[in-house]
Amino acid sequence: MGKSFKEMWSDIKGKIKEVSPEELRQRMTNGKETLLLDVREKDEVRREYICGAELLPRGFLEMRVEELIPDREKFIVVYCAVGVRSGFAAKTLTDMGYKDVASLRGGIEKWKRSGFEVLRDLDFTREQLDRYSRQIILPEVGEQGQAKIRRGKVLIVGGGHLSSAATMYLAAGGVGKLGILDSHPVTHGDLRGQVLHTVPSLGKNRAESAVKMVERINPDVAAKAYPIRLGVENTMETLEDYDVILECSGNSRTRYLVNDACVLMGKPLFIAEMAGDWGRVMSVYPGEGPCYRCVFPKTELEENRTERDWNFEALGGLMALIQAAEIFKFFLGKGDLSKDKLLLWNGFRMRFHREPVERDRECPLCGEHPTITHLM
Ligand SMILES: [Zn+2]
Repeated sequence: MGKSFKEMWSDIKGKIKEVSPEELRQRMTNGKETLLLDVREKDEVRREYICGAELLPRGFLEMRVEELIPDREKFIVVYCAVGVRSGFAAKTLTDMGYKDVASLRGGIEKWKRSGFEVLRDLDFTREQLDRYSRQIILPEVGEQGQAKIRRGKVLIVGGGHLSSAATMYLAAGGVGKLGILDSHPVTHGDLRGQVLHTVPSLGKNRAESAVKMVERINPDVAAKAYPIRLGVENTMETLEDYDVILECSGNSRTRYLVNDACVLMGKPLFIAEMAGDWGRVMSVYPGEGPCYRCVFPKTELEENRTERDWNFEALGGLMALIQAAEIFKFFLGKGDLSKDKLLLWNGFRMRFHREPVERDRECPLCGEHPTITHLM
C-alpha cells in the first residue's frame, strides 16, 4: 500500500531545512543574498506576498524553475501559506540539485503573525490586466514587475523632440508617476518631430501639453507638469519626488546641473542627447559608475556646445526611447543596465558605437576629492 499524506509529510519534514520568519527577516535586512520563492497559486499571491519574492506556483515548479533560477548554488527560501507546499517544493528542488534550499516555517501566515510586512499591490483591474497582458506574460515582468513599474516615478526634463516618444512609452507601459518639465510653448516648428504635441496645443506650454497627451494615453498615470526652468535654486526640490530622472533637455547647462543634483542626491539619471550627427546615451548610477562630468569634463566647448539647428528628429527620439527601455529594466531590476557604457548612434551613416567609460578619480563631483558639494 502507498504512503498516506501524513507519512509522506513526516518523511519530508525530516529531510528538508526550515527557517523561521525571524531568521529570514534577519537575512534580508543584513543584505545576505537570499532568493525568496513563493510557490502558492496566483489568486493567493494577488492578495498578498512578501516583498522581493519570485513567483512560481507549485504546479509549474519542476517545469520552470531551471529557467527562473539557473544558478543551483544560490540560497533559496521557499514559502507558501503555512509551510507544507513549500516543504514539498524544497524537497523537489533539493532532488533537482539545488544545493541550499530551505522552507519558511509556518509560511506567509506565520510571517504576518510575527509582525512582518507583506505587499498587496497586485490589485490590477480587468482593463489593466488586458492592457499590460503582453508585458505581464514575460518571465522578466509578471504581475509583480508590473506593480514595480506602477510604483515608479520618473521626472522627464525637457518636453521636446528628444523626450516625446520616450514619454509616450513610459506612460503607455504603466509608470506610476510622470513629471514633465519644460518652460517653452509649443510652436509650429515643434510639430515636425515632437509627437507629444498636436495642433490644438500650439501656443500652450510644452509640459502642460505633454501631460494632456499622457492622460489620453493612460489615465492611470499620475502626470504633473512643471512649466519652469531649472536653476540652482529649484533643481533639488523638483527632483526630490522622483526615483529616476530622464534628461532630455537638449541643453548642456541643464544637463550638468541635473547630473550634479542626481549625484548629490544619489538618484539614477538617464541622459539622451544629440551631439553633432550623433545621438548619445549615457546612464549615471551614482556611486556605481561614472557621472556625466567624469566622461565629459565641463569645458568651454562642452558648455557652449549646441545641437545643430536642424535635427534628425527620429534619431533624438530613438535615443530617449532607448533610455525609456533602460528605465523599465531599472524598475524591474532585470537585464544589463549599462552602468559603464556610452552608446552612440549615427543614424545617417547607420553606425552604432558602444564604448566603455569609467569613473574619473579626479572628477570634481564624484571623484576622490570632490570640490562640488552643493549645486553651483
Ligand atoms: Zn564624476
